[in-house]
Amino acid sequence: MRRVYGYRCTVCGKEYPYGPELMTCPACGEKGILDILFDYDEVKKELNRDTLKADRDNSMWRYKALMPLKGEGLSKFLRIGWTPLYESLRLGNELGLRKLYIKDDGINPTASLKDRASGVAVAKAIELGYDTICCSSTGNAASSCAGNAARMGLKTVIFVPERAPKGKVAQLLIFGANVISVRGDYRQTFELSKAAIEKWGFYNRNAGINPILTEGKKTVALEIAEQLNWEPTDWVAVSVGDGCTIGGVYNGFHDLYEMGMIDRIPKILGVQSTGCCPFVDAANNHRDLVPTPENTLADSIAVGVPRNPKKALRAVKNSGGRWIAVSDDEILAAMRLLGRTEGVFGEPAGVTATAGVVRAVKEGIIRPDETVTVISTGSGLKDVNNALKAAGEPFLCEPDIKVLEASGRILSI
Ligand SMILES: *Cc1c(COP(=O)(O)O)cnc(C)c1O
Ligand SMILES: [Zn+2]
Repeated sequence: MRRVYGYRCTVCGKEYPYGPELMTCPACGEKGILDILFDYDEVKKELNRDTLKADRDNSMWRYKALMPLKGEGLSKFLRIGWTPLYESLRLGNELGLRKLYIKDDGINPTASLKDRASGVAVAKAIELGYDTICCSSTGNAASSCAGNAARMGLKTVIFVPERAPKGKVAQLLIFGANVISVRGDYRQTFELSKAAIEKWGFYNRNAGINPILTEGKKTVALEIAEQLNWEPTDWVAVSVGDGCTIGGVYNGFHDLYEMGMIDRIPKILGVQSTGCCPFVDAANNHRDLVPTPENTLADSIAVGVPRNPKKALRAVKNSGGRWIAVSDDEILAAMRLLGRTEGVFGEPAGVTATAGVVRAVKEGIIRPDETVTVISTGSGLKDVNNALKAAGEPFLCEPDIKVLEASGRILSI
């Protein structure tokens, strides 16, 4: 594969030639998360503005030349990516922003951005001849892994913390996964999955570890750039747990910049919940990450020990972006706000980036004359309990028009 020439360790900087496939840096062990190195001149032969203009593949595989895959049989997959990028009609105005776009990744086949990473992982597992793929996850990586594997005929062993929302667990069971619900937090869930992978030799789809996952998630940035005709917004806001998504967003824009397809990389706003914000704490205190409790209802980003810290920190630093934390109340408010103003229904972690934009505008971090893309990373239907916590209960009425009239409900809308 001439498009991909090697790996570089994000910790020690050592480079390795591509193939045999590496998971982490042999010198650094588990902490040695790798970057995958592309030969952009080779990539450009297969992928450029002209090829994309002619490409009728409306899925993330339109960018397969920028993935470390042989690229066979991808049209058989569930349709991942090429999700809508909506120009905001109301929310941007309410916030006083010149332009706001919403990238709705809840529209993916298993209803979260994680499908982008799981698709690449399943493709790689098939390429390498595995029959079982293993994943530990706060929920969405799990359900996307299970769904995409089911479609392609792979078995799955999935570890989730006991607290995972019912909607996500239901997805797993419907997709026929072997589900291990771990009596413990995400960190303990991760450790158990790691031990199982070592013992049974499954293909490893753990977000922090496997370097190809970032290369799937980066397609969200490639799409944003293409959908904006290669002029991305000043800011792109994304919610952060393990740090793999934000790392991918940066990688996508970085690839395009290196290939001369965009002129600048947007500033990346990394958003966490105040109940679990190891990245924000580290940035504010100018120190390394320290493990934090996982006290937020945004379960998908309740990650006390992020597995991909280097790529996440680099994304914000190299893009000239910012880290910001929002409370769970702000997250619930953003859920209502995004739903009411734009018709986009996100799960708590899905709208955390929106809550971050609201706060960043208030704090003057984002200026009114700047343009913003906010990524909604997962559908609100995955977590109906928290949606109802945000929205409250409906008005219960007798089936009688007089009662309805007397209630004053209709006149007050
Ligand atoms: C996983 C996830 C995130 C955060 O991604 P990380 O790679 O863990 O930082 C954000 N939102 C949703 C809905 C997710 O499932
Ligand atoms: Zn290393």
